[in-house]
Order: sequence, then structure tokens, then C-alpha cells
Amino acid sequence: MIKVGITGNIGSGKTTVCRIFEILGIPVYYADDRAKELLQSDKEIIEQVKKLFGDDVYDANNRLDKKRVAHVVFNEPEFLKQYEAIIHPAVIRDGEKWFQRHAQFPYAIKEAALLFESGGYKHLDKTICVTAPVNIRIKRIQERDGLDTEDILARMRNQMAEAEKVELSDFIIYNDGTAPLIRQVLNIHEKLLELDKKQDQFERN
Ligand code: ATP
Repeated sequence: MIKVGITGNIGSGKTTVCRIFEILGIPVYYADDRAKELLQSDKEIIEQVKKLFGDDVYDANNRLDKKRVAHVVFNEPEFLKQYEAIIHPAVIRDGEKWFQRHAQFPYAIKEAALLFESGGYKHLDKTICVTAPVNIRIKRIQERDGLDTEDILARMRNQMAEAEKVELSDFIIYNDGTAPLIRQVLNIHEKLLELDKKQDQFERN
């Protein structure tokens, strides 16, 4: 089984692309969603987060005060670093277990905005970057989330430059409306199936 990562900056269309892979029967692990779940359910992570921000960052029902966390980490880079040092390794460990549970598939995908920033890519065989021009990304995010341009730009500044992600990736999907997404996804799907077949043959010989 081939372990594949999909990344791209905010609003590039990662989730949209992953939905197409899911239609093709390929399982997808959404790292951001999973991180949110782990923050609510994993005892070890909860303890570490409490140590960093104080016990009262979780309420009596063990719900995390996300607004407070966001306010602190976006204003104090040192806290962001320490927070990420808790979350990133936890998501990598959890993702590895998830891949093991999906070993019967030819390939499986982990979707993560911070695939390169977190070091998560080191545990994967292939990476795909979804890319779109910044003006299109801003417009899509505004329509989806109703955020203003300044907020979106601030989030973008927290991510590695898109050009660098493109450079580091094995496959690139252009989501700028010029080439149909479905055709690009099918193309990569075929290549990954082929790669899995070759890997199987290699392991058998
Ligand atoms: P984030 O990093 O914020 O989670 P993302 O990279 O996962 O974003 P999506 O959520 O897939 O991006 O796309 C952002 C928005 O743009 C969504 O509302 C989506 O429906 C829309 N969108 C994505 N691709 C296209 C496209 N080719 N044409 C029209 N709308 C699109």
C-alpha cells in the first residue's frame, strides 16, 4: 500500500480534491478534523495542553476553549511552537495507525495543510500539492467562511509559501479553473495504482 499525502495552502481545494479520491473508493484521513477529535478525547494530549495553557482551558465537560487557544497561539509564537509540538507528533502517530488499518487498499491519503511544516511528509511515500492563485483562494475562502481579506492573509502568512510546497511535492493539481479537477485526479489515481502494482511485484520477487 502506498501512503500518500495531500497538501496545499488555505483555500487551495484540498478537501474538494479529496472528495473526488473518496468517490474513487480511496480512503482519506483528514488531519485537521482528527487533530480536533484527539484534542477532545486523547487523555495524554489533554494533559499536555492543560500544562501549556492552564487547567481551565478545558471546561467541566472537557471541551477545549478553542478561541482562547487561537488568541494565545496567534499572538505568542513560542506558545504556537509548543502547541504544535504536542499536536503534530500525535497526529503523525494516529495517522500511522490509520494507514495500517487501511493496508488492504492500493493507496490511502492523508490530507494535511501543514504536511511539510509538521514533518508528516517524512512518513509518506508520495505527496500531492493542490495549488490555486492567491486571489482565487481568497475569494473561495470569503465565500465559504465569510472571513475578511486581512484575516485570510494572516492565516496564509502562517503557512509555508505555496511555491515551496509545489517544489517538494511529487504531483501537482492545478485548481485554478483551467483544467478539470476530475481529469487531473484520475491521472494521478492511475499512476498510484500502477505504482502499487509494481511495488507488489517487487515484494513478490
Ligand atoms: P482549507 O485549507 O481552508 O481547509 P481547502 O484547501 O481544503 O481549504 P476547499 O475547502 O476544498 O479548500 O475549497 C475552498 C472553497 O472553495 C470551498 O468552498 C470549495 O467548495 C471551493 N472550491 C474549491 N475548488 C473549487 C473549484 N474548482 N471551483 C469552485 N469552487 C471551488
